[in-house]
Amino acid sequence: MSEPTKAYRDKKVVDALISKIKYESEKRKEKTKIMHVCGTHEHDLVKAGLRSLLPKNIDLIAGPGCPVCVSSAQDVDEVLWIADNHNVIITTFGDMMRVPGSTESLYQAQGRGVDVRVVYGVSDAIKLAEKTPEQDVIFFSVGFETTSCVTAAEVIRTNLSNFSIYSSHKVIPPAMELLLQRDDIEFHGYLAPGHVSTIIGTKPYEFIPEKYNFPVSIAGFEPVDILMGILSLTKQINEETPIVDNTYGRWVRYEGNTTALRTMDEAYVLSDARWRGLGVFPKTGHEISDKYAHIDAKKKYDIPELPVTDLHGGCICDEILIGKSKPHQCKLFNKTCRPDHPIGACMVSHEGTCNVAATYEEIIWE
Ligand code: SF4
Repeated sequence: MSEPTKAYRDKKVVDALISKIKYESEKRKEKTKIMHVCGTHEHDLVKAGLRSLLPKNIDLIAGPGCPVCVSSAQDVDEVLWIADNHNVIITTFGDMMRVPGSTESLYQAQGRGVDVRVVYGVSDAIKLAEKTPEQDVIFFSVGFETTSCVTAAEVIRTNLSNFSIYSSHKVIPPAMELLLQRDDIEFHGYLAPGHVSTIIGTKPYEFIPEKYNFPVSIAGFEPVDILMGILSLTKQINEETPIVDNTYGRWVRYEGNTTALRTMDEAYVLSDARWRGLGVFPKTGHEISDKYAHIDAKKKYDIPELPVTDLHGGCICDEILIGKSKPHQCKLFNKTCRPDHPIGACMVSHEGTCNVAATYEEIIWE
């Protein structure tokens, strides 16, 4: 382990931060509920055992932070419809393979002969298209701003007639706003995602304290990072002084990564997006701009309207994704739905809330 990483896992620092959080949380009569919107936060905080170290009156709620989990079955269905009706190779990230569509996953479709290949990223998909000029290659691109900015560069640069991108990109700050407008979920502060924030900066969150009087703290992923973010939120909540506090200043800048932001502005337009089990959320997606229609698989192939089933056999991923329910409250959890046999999207990726809970078997959901 590198020295800098070690410093962010230092037990003395962790203990000191836990004591301070305890002190702040005890000032409130009711539980302090903090929502994060990042699959890496869920994975890393559970792996580090942070929920068990925190005082009982702090509730860390997992929100819609795993891009694989939030992808609608409709996106899988549409990609498979293209594969079934055209001579194409589908490429995508490994995590997407087992995400359920309405009737089958890409992995299951591969079993019946659909040409689906796992790639590390868009550049591998482009290399494949260059090698197979006689066949169309589609990159099924999923992710938040951290991932979609890389794809954006290729949207602008690539001009291969046999290559296109199916975009299932999501945008985080508008989704955070939609959760604040719901009256069926209660929480008191947002732990904002470090990865996404390195791209978008701190500015896009400013409307949250300004318009909703609601605290935000941007946090990294080591135990000390996450605890600093939580401490900031407990203080902001107690002092009723909501701001966007950047506790991940070693990577996140106010203006973000301006090159990445310019590239995304050029390649994409903000669009309505389908979230698994939750329907369409306005202006929470990134579709490919008309200027680059030649690379947009949704425009290249005339996809018909398809019947969609997002949730199977009692799956409550819709509630898990907005922090309304916890994995143990699903009757399928760790029974018929397991990491080796996922029924819902939240059990597929190692950053999915159900997968994390099943993998680490933490007693965290009392
Ligand atoms: S345990 Fe499985 S079926 Fe239940 S909500 Fe999680 S992913 Fe869906």
